[in-house]
Formats: sequence, C-alpha cells, structure tokens
Amino acid sequence: MEQAISPPPVASGSPFTLEPLGPSPHGSLEILVGCHASRTAGSSRKHAVRIEADWSVSTPHDIELERVAMAMGGYLSCVTLVDREVPALRELLQLRARRVVPDITRTATGHWRLHVLAEHGCRCHRGGFGTAAEAAEHARDPFHVARLHGLEPGRLARLLRAVQEAYGTGFYAPPSDVGAAAGVVRERDGLERLWETGVHPEVIARLHQALWPQGPPMPVWFYLGAISRRPSFAWIARTLAAVPDEDVAVWLCWTDTELDRTHPAARAGWLQAGVPRNAITALADGAYTPADVARLAACTRRSVPRAAITLAAWHRAGCHPSPQDIALLDQLDGDPWYEPSAGAVDWLWDRVGNPDTGATRTELAMLLAVCGTRANTMYVLDKGVRDPRVAARLMNDSDRALTVRAIHTVPQSSESGSRTTESDLTTRESELSRR
Ligand SMILES: [Zn+2]
Ligand SMILES: [Zn+2]
Repeated sequence: MEQAISPPPVASGSPFTLEPLGPSPHGSLEILVGCHASRTAGSSRKHAVRIEADWSVSTPHDIELERVAMAMGGYLSCVTLVDREVPALRELLQLRARRVVPDITRTATGHWRLHVLAEHGCRCHRGGFGTAAEAAEHARDPFHVARLHGLEPGRLARLLRAVQEAYGTGFYAPPSDVGAAAGVVRERDGLERLWETGVHPEVIARLHQALWPQGPPMPVWFYLGAISRRPSFAWIARTLAAVPDEDVAVWLCWTDTELDRTHPAARAGWLQAGVPRNAITALADGAYTPADVARLAACTRRSVPRAAITLAAWHRAGCHPSPQDIALLDQLDGDPWYEPSAGAVDWLWDRVGNPDTGATRTELAMLLAVCGTRANTMYVLDKGVRDPRVAARLMNDSDRALTVRAIHTVPQSSESGSRTTESDLTTRESELSRR
C-alpha cells in the first residue's frame, strides 16, 4: 500500500448535513477488487485495497505514475477506483445512511424531481416521481449515482455491498434511538416516512429546534417543505414567534418567495393585521411590496388588510396598477370595493390588447373600473381613450346627455354623432352579447 489520496473536505455547518460516515464503523476498510490493465476488461487479477477512515485509498500501485500513464493512453482500473469510484461510493453512503438530505424538489404539477439528473436512460430522466420518498429512493440508488458519475453500476454496487456489510445494515430503517426527534413529528409513522424520504431523525430534531423550538409536533409535510425548499429559518422562526399557528408554519415552509427574502417581516405583520392568507400568497409572488400596501392604505384610507386584498385582487387578474393608480380610481368615484375580474380583462385583452402598441392589461382593467361594463370600455377604446380620467369624463358626459334627452325628449342632432347615445350603447351591448 503506497499511496493515500486525500479527498476534498466536506462542507459542514448545514442543518441538513450530519457528520459524514467513514467506509466502516471501525475506521478503515480493506476490500478485494478486480484490477484491469485494459479498458476492454480481458485478463484481470484481484488484489486488496484499503479505504482509509478519511476515504483516502491505499493501493499496491504508484497511482501518480499510473495517472501519467493513463494520460498517455494507458489504462488501470485502480486509477478510476481511487479518483472516481471511491468518491462516488462515499457520496452514495452518506445518502444511504441519511447523513445528507437528497436534493429533491416538488414541481408545479405536484411531482417530485431530482435537481441533478443522471445521463439519459436513467429513471430520473423519465418525468417526475409520484412521491418524495420515491424520488429520494432513486437519489440513493447505486445505479443512479453510478450513471451520475459515468461509472459502471455493477462495480459501485459491489463496493457499496462491502461497506454495508461492514456496518451490518442496509440502512433500511431509522435508528431505534431517535433521540431529540421523539415527539416532534405529528404522524405516528412520521419518522419512518421521513427516513424513506432521506431525512435522519437528527436532522428532523434540528429543523424543529431551528424553526419552532417551542412548537408542537409538526406534520411530515412541514419537514418536506423545509428540506426541499430550504426557506430562511430565521424568517420562519421570527414569523412563528409572532403568529404561533401550525397551519401557518406549514404554509410558511411552502410559500416563501423573493418578497420574503427582501421583506422578511412582511408576512408576520400581515398575518397579525388580519390579511387573509390567499391575499398574502398573491402579494408574495406579485410585484407588490409591504410598502405598496402601506402606501395604498395611507392614500386611500383603506385598512391594511383591505389594501392588501385590493392589490392581491388586481394581481390575480394579471394587472399591476400602482397604489396611486388605485387612488385615482377612487377619486373618479370608482367603487372602493371594486376588484377586476380576470375573465372580463381577458375578454377585453383578446379584442384590443396588444403587447407592442395597444393598451396594457392594467390600462384595460382601469378603464373597465371607470366605465363599469365591457361595452362602455370598448366604446371609450374606440374613441382612442386610454386615460381613465378622460374615460370618466366621457362616461359622465354620456350620462348627462342621456338624462337631458330623457327630460326634454330632444331629438338627436347631427353634430351629436361623436357622442354616445343610449341606442349606441344598447346596440353595443346586444352586439357584444351575440359574439
Ligand atoms: Zn490495481
Ligand atoms: Zn437517475
């Protein structure tokens, strides 16, 4: 045994990563390997190698020299063993023993995927997995890890078998002593389910301690959110200290967004102010900040929850007026409870929206707020009006003209052709309803 090649150091300090395991509970591990001097297998001999406690490898070869030979076209399987197979084995063992959390994520469609896919032909390339546990099981499959590193799966599986024999376990169940994790998962089989998903009881205990130290046992789903989305722990802990609620805790793990990173106190403040959760979720993935909500509340005398609900409703309809825009609508005698309907805005957008030259969705929705109906909105758009103030004036003029005509039964004069008439509007409404 001539050479000991040191592996790179492992990152530490993350709550998701436990002290790495060595190749054997007793320190080093001696194994017999097939040694090939040709890529096409052919004749081989067996010899022992020793994987040291720090995962460096001792072989009977001068590995440095063999590396130079390989660079010049030679081959020795023990170079691959030292440089690539043992590092992959080390990574695989940490996943099998749940020393690291697998890098899995939930997709928008509710499936689970690995962040890093192996080469084509591996199961992870064929769409998502139905459950987090299935995705995690694939992440710790020797065949997946071998494909990830371009290695021969059979050789990696054999190395894993030797290590698992040394440990006397295939790591199929969590340790019987779960320590501080006892009583922090709500479901009776929660620890087993999280183990299947690649989470060690010690990691579960750490997460509970970091996120809600005084909190009750939390559902599996809470921990799945924490491991797959990696939200800011300090932010969740602060929010839960202000709003201690189990449902909120799960929801926080699953809905954190850029807003929460830039305005970490927003969500707690909104929850305490009584803003409904669906409004907060809409705001959190929209372009509105807590300052916008506060500004709207201040400039329109809405309460903070009401201001948040208003902005969230506009966001859900795909529109982004500024707080000043909404204040303007209020001044134009708009209904302060008005919320644009996504369907009505879609309808207008399909007919007159144009991303390059026409009115924006926000402009259309603001005109709709002022004009009251789609037909009236189409009418002012036909007149080339985009400004809600002008549209409001036009609507008022129309109303006045109609009222005057109703009182005096004045016959329509020829110069009123550019003005709206009752029959115009009635015709428009019936035209539109026929489409
Ligand atoms: Zn060899
Ligand atoms: Zn795979």
